[in-house]
Amino acid sequence: MPDAPKPAVKKIAATGAMRKLMADYFRELDEASRSGDAQVAWCTSVGPAELLRSFGFEVYFPENHGAMLGASRQAADLIPAANAIGYSPDICSYLTSDVGSYLRKQTPLTQAFGLDGVPKPDVLIYNTNQCRDVQDWLAFYQREFGVPLLGIDTMRGLGDITGDHLDGLIAQHRALVPALEEISGRSFDIDRLKDVVGSSYRCTRLWKRVLRLAGHKPSPITFFDSTIHMGPAVVLRGDVRAEQYYELLITELEGRIADGVGAVDDETYRFYWEGMPVWGKLRNHANSFAAQRTCVVASTYCNSWIFDAMECDDPFEGMARAYTELFIVRSEDYKEQYLADMINDYAIDAIVYHDAKTCPNNSNCRYGMPERLSRRLGVPHVVIAGDLNDLRLYSEEQAQTQFEALVEQLSESR
Ligand code: SF4
Repeated sequence: MPDAPKPAVKKIAATGAMRKLMADYFRELDEASRSGDAQVAWCTSVGPAELLRSFGFEVYFPENHGAMLGASRQAADLIPAANAIGYSPDICSYLTSDVGSYLRKQTPLTQAFGLDGVPKPDVLIYNTNQCRDVQDWLAFYQREFGVPLLGIDTMRGLGDITGDHLDGLIAQHRALVPALEEISGRSFDIDRLKDVVGSSYRCTRLWKRVLRLAGHKPSPITFFDSTIHMGPAVVLRGDVRAEQYYELLITELEGRIADGVGAVDDETYRFYWEGMPVWGKLRNHANSFAAQRTCVVASTYCNSWIFDAMECDDPFEGMARAYTELFIVRSEDYKEQYLADMINDYAIDAIVYHDAKTCPNNSNCRYGMPERLSRRLGVPHVVIAGDLNDLRLYSEEQAQTQFEALVEQLSESR
């Protein structure tokens, strides 16, 4: 008897529309950079993109480029160039691969969109809500390009977020305005900012709906799909085209649910992914889990672009709240309760923690969290050692063995 066909990863039809949208986004940046018709701001992934868009800047996100360097598996070749000028192999591998890409003049944007390089910045803006690396990363480019570096310094490890925390952060957001007026040559327009923040909020609500659809059994989408489809929420929030894209994606996923079609055939186990993706292994992971009838249905990472708090009469307060209430900013106790809620909400059978060597900020397995949660919820886990971009820090064989052992453990307990 022939072997039964292995479950395949299903393609999402809206992917074509997303690729076109991302191509348009990068070409517009390139055009702005070349022609000077619009100025370009580089912004950290959870920085104040809305404020920049309200001034008419085209907004480029170096972390998105870092993820592309990882997904295209160019990172490990480029990181040594950054190490050679003193950037440690132990710091963020987005940073080191992006700086290496700049030094070697090599970018995945060439193959993907026919661009010679990344757009040149007129201003660089960071928010340290996620880590200090982003500040040092943009400081490198400040020295290279000689353009202004502005930023917001957010405290970390927060439990409850109080009015005192917010007052300082709102003030820091407002304090960016005079500098941006000077750089852009435009007057600040509060109504324009409200429009952009409103669009960003609608985008985030739609993205949240996409992720919540994975609560269905079988789930119409996997974590590996979501890491790709979150692109517009990351780089085009505040632009109506991102909203339109998620409406299209939701229609397709709701169609799958109505037809009883899961992203993984014969979905038997539902996993949670805690931590960063291993960008260069997304396809391997997607195929391997599908072959084990396992759908990774939810993750901390993809949920990080849900900004419920953006809804606010005062757009400065909306931004300050949204970019401070993030999981990555919060205390260990807050994170533990958040994960417990996710495990319950998505009917999770097991958790994969990715201990990313160069990103302690997105690795939540170093202070006893996996053991505490497994004891509390009775949900087994594995911790895989790896990295977001530097594949030299990851063993495919070891991780696959761990995934298979976890599935086997579940299968024996049923
Ligand atoms: S949070 Fe992690 S991956 Fe993101 S920029 Fe900071 S160190 Fe890099």
